[in-house]
Amino acid sequence: MSKSNNYQPYNSNEAEPEIYKLWEKSGQFTPKIDPKKKPFSIIMPPPNANGSLHIGHAMFVTLEDILIRYHRMLGEAALWLPGADHAGILTQVVYEKKIKKERGANRKSLGREKFYAETLSFTLKNKKVMENQLRALGASCDWTREKFTLDPNLTPAIYLTFKKLYEAGFVYRGQHLINWCPRCETAISDLEVSYQQEKTKLTFIKYPLKNSAQFILVATTRPETMLGDTAVAVNPKDKRYSALVGKIAILPLVNREIPIIADEAVDPAFGSGAVKVTPAHDPVDFEIGMRHQLPIVSVIGPDNKMTQDAPVSYQGLMVKLAREKVVAALVDLNLLTKQKDYQHRVGHCERCKTTIEPLISWQWFIHTEPLAAPVVELVEKEQVKILPKRFTKTFLTWMKNLKDWCISRQIWWGITIPVFYCEDCQKIMLAVDDQGNLMLPQTCAGCGSVHLRQETDTFDTWFSSGQWPYITLGWPQNSADYQYFYPTSVLETGYEILNIWVARMLMLGIFATGVAPFKTVYLHGMVRDAFGQKMSKSRPETAIDPLSAIAKFGADALRLALTVGSAAGNDVSISGDKIRGYRNFANKVWNAARFTKGHLLAQHQIPEKVKAQSLTADDKKMFSELKKLLASVNKDFEHFRLGRLGEKLYDSFWHVFCDWYLEAAKKRLFSQDEKDKEICCFVLKKSLMVYLKLLHPLAPFVTEKIWQSLKTEEQLLISASWPDKIE
Ligand SMILES: [Zn+2]
Ligand SMILES: [Zn+2]
Repeated sequence: MSKSNNYQPYNSNEAEPEIYKLWEKSGQFTPKIDPKKKPFSIIMPPPNANGSLHIGHAMFVTLEDILIRYHRMLGEAALWLPGADHAGILTQVVYEKKIKKERGANRKSLGREKFYAETLSFTLKNKKVMENQLRALGASCDWTREKFTLDPNLTPAIYLTFKKLYEAGFVYRGQHLINWCPRCETAISDLEVSYQQEKTKLTFIKYPLKNSAQFILVATTRPETMLGDTAVAVNPKDKRYSALVGKIAILPLVNREIPIIADEAVDPAFGSGAVKVTPAHDPVDFEIGMRHQLPIVSVIGPDNKMTQDAPVSYQGLMVKLAREKVVAALVDLNLLTKQKDYQHRVGHCERCKTTIEPLISWQWFIHTEPLAAPVVELVEKEQVKILPKRFTKTFLTWMKNLKDWCISRQIWWGITIPVFYCEDCQKIMLAVDDQGNLMLPQTCAGCGSVHLRQETDTFDTWFSSGQWPYITLGWPQNSADYQYFYPTSVLETGYEILNIWVARMLMLGIFATGVAPFKTVYLHGMVRDAFGQKMSKSRPETAIDPLSAIAKFGADALRLALTVGSAAGNDVSISGDKIRGYRNFANKVWNAARFTKGHLLAQHQIPEKVKAQSLTADDKKMFSELKKLLASVNKDFEHFRLGRLGEKLYDSFWHVFCDWYLEAAKKRLFSQDEKDKEICCFVLKKSLMVYLKLLHPLAPFVTEKIWQSLKTEEQLLISASWPDKIE
């Protein structure tokens, strides 16, 4: 680089793409398997390939890249394996919205095959965009090993996990109450339901007692589901009703005889203290029904209409209409005593916001108890560490109370569950061979019938991403990558998906491979706006888009703003001003280097080594500051205190190196003492190089750009060795 170029201000827009290309070409992102080296591996949480990267992605990319760059500089074989997630129901909803808006189409008008093909090409296009966004953030991940959840060569591994679970008896098909989204027309897991308070009416209904003029008054927010009632329940301690327990009530509008039962689940303070029990349409009622062996009458179908099991005049009505009709009929019969305003928690489909309808349905489930037990054991023994530690307790409580996991979805965008059903004897046949390929049975293994039906349900998207660490490294083959890099070193992700993702990776990973897929779980907090609010599109003035921030301030500034001062598990507030502040820091580094380089170039002879006695008191103090800094940064890395080490580097570079040493050096550099000038240059150069190395994981672009102009023995900073001692 010519001397004049050194005096141009730092231009991140120009430098960053150039530097990234330099790294990519150098092959440094792709670690070699070397038995003499220590492996260090992180599997990137695969971003959903249905949109742009947001600020939350920038957060995890920065933190993981810092760890990877540090371990690479330590001389370890550092693998960061990137990927993308097809993101099942979420992508399906995004794509449905898109085709509705663009051409008034919907998934049904396209048909399953065409819808799938279009969604795939939409996803692959997005994946390309996302990859370039990851590059813009400086992600030093190994693109040669990139994976996508729908890669055809990953499906066999996903099928084999299912087969293994099936053969172990840990997966079953059962009729359960599930959360049904009437719009997406699929079951969704408890974790995909978001709740909010809504206003409704609490309706009080008189249920006549059999052979009596008496009534029992029940209160409900869902009068229409009474058509599926199979009991009335009261709390066993509720003295008001003890005489009625065991008696029979007559269900109005249906005239079904239903028992009055006592169950602890009933809250005596709710409504009248007596509730109707509809096992087919309410999770609490389902449990009560199981305890009392109540019949299940499903009156609402998956299409959100009343079924054949409702009285004739209600069949085929939409739920909302049925509710109005039930209320009117009860008023006519003089059985509705009052309706009052009421607030309650209503579940919505997390993806499309439609109100969830609890339904009884045939689904595939994973029996979680035997899978959760070893996870609990390893976490309790700290063989899998969760950072920050405070998340461990809630995680363990959650793991010990897991319900079975519903893994089937009735959506089209996903991996089809590999089973067949016999239409004649209902036998279920697993259709996976030992290599994990789908094999189509010709006849029923039970009755020999040829009337077979292939399952159309797809896997829950978390069933494939839950296998991510081991299938991306080549399981079930004992590949070189799998042997060397598995189990991985660290799993870094947001705390909000500890239960939905991390728990499942641990369960499936331990089950399939016999070992936990990672040793440390590092959880980062949510990125919030300057006012501590969740960023949202509805307040664009405070939301930070990572790509515009990079265009304005540079990737280094964004990375520093996200990490310096942050702590594991704590939310981080970020604003344009904050990022601008770190852009100033990047400029500070650039200018300090420019000043130093100016003098280095002017000085023809910079000694390779300097005897300790030739150093001034300032020189010695500078080196001892660096020594302390290095030791404490190393310690922080060891304990994943990335925010703290960022703070120390920032302070030391700005206040010790720039404000103090550089300022003091100016006098010496402009003096006539040539010998002292040389020594000062030696200390300047040495210190600058140490700072560049220490800052590189956090601010990789500006440090590499400067390094390139220093022309040192180590050609690339990305692969330069981490300082081991300061002398
Ligand atoms: Zn939905
Ligand atoms: Zn059969």
